Amino acid sequence: MATNEAMIDAFRGHLLPNYQPAPVVLTRGRGCRVEDVEGRSYLDMCAGIAVVSLGHSHPSLVAAIAEQAGRLMHTSNLFWNDKALELGKALTGRTFATRAFFCNSGAEANEALLKLARKWNHVHGAPERREIVCMDGSFHGRTMGAVTMTGQPKYHVGMEPLVPGIRHVPFGDIDALDAVVGPKTAAVLLEPVQGEGGVTSPPKGYLPAVRALCDARGALLMLDEVQTGIGRTGTFLAHESLDVVPDAVSLAKGIAGGFPMGAMLCAEKLADGLPFGSHATTFGGNPLACAAALATLRILDEENVLENVRSVGAHLGARLDELVVRHPDLLQESRGLGLLRGVAVRGHVDARAMLMAAQANGVLLSVAGAKVLRFSPPLVVTAAEIDEAIALLDATLAAPPANAIKDAAE
Ligand SMILES: *Cc1c(COP(=O)(O)O)cnc(C)c1O
Repeated sequence: MATNEAMIDAFRGHLLPNYQPAPVVLTRGRGCRVEDVEGRSYLDMCAGIAVVSLGHSHPSLVAAIAEQAGRLMHTSNLFWNDKALELGKALTGRTFATRAFFCNSGAEANEALLKLARKWNHVHGAPERREIVCMDGSFHGRTMGAVTMTGQPKYHVGMEPLVPGIRHVPFGDIDALDAVVGPKTAAVLLEPVQGEGGVTSPPKGYLPAVRALCDARGALLMLDEVQTGIGRTGTFLAHESLDVVPDAVSLAKGIAGGFPMGAMLCAEKLADGLPFGSHATTFGGNPLACAAALATLRILDEENVLENVRSVGAHLGARLDELVVRHPDLLQESRGLGLLRGVAVRGHVDARAMLMAAQANGVLLSVAGAKVLRFSPPLVVTAAEIDEAIALLDATLAAPPANAIKDAAE
């Protein structure tokens, strides 16, 4: 029988070393649990980084994908397909947007935002508006445009030259934004809650103030909802509960329940910003991905999943608050919204080592920023599963591995 170690040793040399996965080889999943090749089961509070929104192998999603795979998988954009047409209507019907563009990842959805911001201004006689203002600590993906918009210099090292015309300001600081948005600004792009940066919410009132500033200066407001969208924070899109309406959003991650897909949605005002021939992708809007997304939306409704995110999300928040009280020496604070939450560890704690120890105890988490243990479970997670995960993390924190604690004197 295959062991994790034997499989990794035998095959890792064939893959680029750009990732450093945990030393387990996952091979199946069901609901909020996944299993490795040795048959060991883990409670999955990571969900493929906020992707597997309905849990692993949701039977109704599996059936929809299988049915569509047997019917029609790909057509290219030279033809309409029924699933893309239906999905455009379904997504715009639930959001501020009237138009959709489909692609294959979050980075691609953000590239679409970047190109739309520039091209729309070009089309509307403002070619001097080229600049995109983004946030420090943000994450927008790894293609050149998306990584340049990402406000984390570590992702830029050695990749230069970056895309020109992109600048960064501190997240949550309206004065800093006020100082740079002007007649050259095409758009301001930000995450309503920074996910990868550390599950960081801006101060109350910040997003409406950004909207007002953009309106006053003639800049577009674009939100990256790749991580926060599709129910993750308790509303269909996160901005719905944050008193702001954007001109366009990017989506991906949970949009098709685990099937790879991205989308860009925009208001009617921007509909002429990417005219015929200006942007495209071969796989974007393929019927298989669209069928998976349609099934995901249907299941979100049928199973009242957003209500679950709100109630179980509040429960998770309360349990994380308790954990901080129980381990004040290790944990600093609990943060987040809905089922996108985390606990920040103190300066002397190595979050990644703690995560690996939690994993050895049977619960999968992820790290956001350097210092936050992130929970982004399937949106169908139950309070009992949350309690089980909290108990496993609690036990991990009660007996932390030596490598998770740096010199106590620090
Ligand atoms: C994950 C993520 C992306 C990148 O998505 P990919 O599908 O990996 O390209 C972009 N923005 C945010 C907010 C994300 O969390």
